Amino acid sequence: MRLHWHRRDLRAADNAGLAAATPSDPVVPVFVFDRAVLDHAGPPRVAFMLDALDSLREWYRDRGGDLVIAEGDPTAVLPDLAAEYGAEKVTWGKDYSGLARERDAAVRQALDDADVAREAVQNAVLHEPGEITTNDGDPYSVFTYFGRKWHDREKENPYDPPSADALVDVDGDALPTLADLGFAEPEADVPAAGTDKARSLLDAFLDGNIYEYEQRRDFPADDCTSRLSAHLKFGTIGIRQVYDRTERAKEGVGGDRRESVQEFQSQLAWREFYTQVLFTHPNVVASNYKSYENPIEWENDDELLQAWKDGETGYPIVDAGMRQLREEAYMHNRVRMIVASFLTKDLLIDWRYGYEWFREKLVDHDTANDNGGWQWAASTGTDAQPYFRIFNPMTQGEDYDPDAEYIKEYVPELRAADPQVIHEWNECSLTQRRNAAPEYPDPVVDHSERREQALAMFEHARDDE
Ligand code: FAD
Repeated sequence: MRLHWHRRDLRAADNAGLAAATPSDPVVPVFVFDRAVLDHAGPPRVAFMLDALDSLREWYRDRGGDLVIAEGDPTAVLPDLAAEYGAEKVTWGKDYSGLARERDAAVRQALDDADVAREAVQNAVLHEPGEITTNDGDPYSVFTYFGRKWHDREKENPYDPPSADALVDVDGDALPTLADLGFAEPEADVPAAGTDKARSLLDAFLDGNIYEYEQRRDFPADDCTSRLSAHLKFGTIGIRQVYDRTERAKEGVGGDRRESVQEFQSQLAWREFYTQVLFTHPNVVASNYKSYENPIEWENDDELLQAWKDGETGYPIVDAGMRQLREEAYMHNRVRMIVASFLTKDLLIDWRYGYEWFREKLVDHDTANDNGGWQWAASTGTDAQPYFRIFNPMTQGEDYDPDAEYIKEYVPELRAADPQVIHEWNECSLTQRRNAAPEYPDPVVDHSERREQALAMFEHARDDE
């Protein structure tokens, strides 16, 4: 008998740990609420995770098994559970962040001390850190080459879920509530979790939007992306399964439609690129990946930070994004890029404040992707936006939300305003602004001035003066 320790793989299908269970070597699935991990989470993520655990538990119960729920330090809990159930082995899916690796090393030691075998399996990515390297064996710091190899490499097929006779008949305890875990109800409407929900999102995406993904993915009002991010973060659906379905979606399809599917697959590759960056440079969680000659002298003004968090900057596309984040615990990718550029290059606030806010508010917060996205926008990351390429938030709004549909959805004060006025808000006179949208704020900074300041800030950091 074996235990499978669920972490970021809250699913039964396409789970390499569970797939190894057989009627003669059955499995007891467990989940451990670990305070050290919960302390890094915000309410939306914990709510999503509880929902995902509930669905997973149902899956086991429908087949005569159950999910064992425990709480505490896994180095103590897992050897105890192994002893309680007579398990000879513990399996889990590998996690690549620095903190997770430290914890896993301690768990391995604890299991070795208890004489329990253990195996960490590949369950979260198609290609693990260290698998796709330069010809010299070094990690890639530029995505293009990584991406090319990632696409060319053969991928593993998805695994079947364990059969009912490979599950031990156990009784799991009740799941804690958000309040039991010390979390308030999320401010946002958190999307539904669970494998069925992830599959239905994938089915709907493969039914149409994937074939226009390349053309439409940057337009937030279209909302044509997969919305799978939180599911991939918590592993309610397996990455092998997602990839396999997209490969099948390519069959018999050519031209732009085929390229669109490939563009979607490239986003899965970005996810693995950032996983590799985090693995090889665990310090990126707190430090710039790219070092400049001098420290970057961020201004870090508290009031401007608050205006950004509240979606009250007077830059419509930025405010729409920040309000979507509060309402849905999600933000469209193009808009994440815009608000991140705005925080760092218009408000001159250190990316770490933005990352912290996203970490608390996003349901899909993933250390590797969030950090990668922030350091890209701040020009401090690997393969980042060059420091002199500064998004103009007004032009971005006009290019990617020309009819201001997305903006109007999240910023009701602007609903009656003409899209042209919205896209020229920073150039309108005070009277024009008051007439068009009396409740909407004036711009908190002047983009052209701040652009110059940002350039000077980076040039000083580069020692270019
Ligand atoms: P789709 O477009 O359908 O993409 C499919 C999947 O590919 C996503 O679910 C995600 O797993 C992956 N993906 C897509 N874009 C990227 C990318 N640029 N980098 C890495 N992986 C990507 N993504 C997260 O999953 N968690 C985060 O915490 C996160 N924080 C971000 C912060 C900033 C500042 C920026 C600019 C981007 C961030 N992203 C993050 C990447 C991206 O915005 C989201 O993955 C995407 O918007 C999720 O929506 P979707 O699932 O519909 O994406």
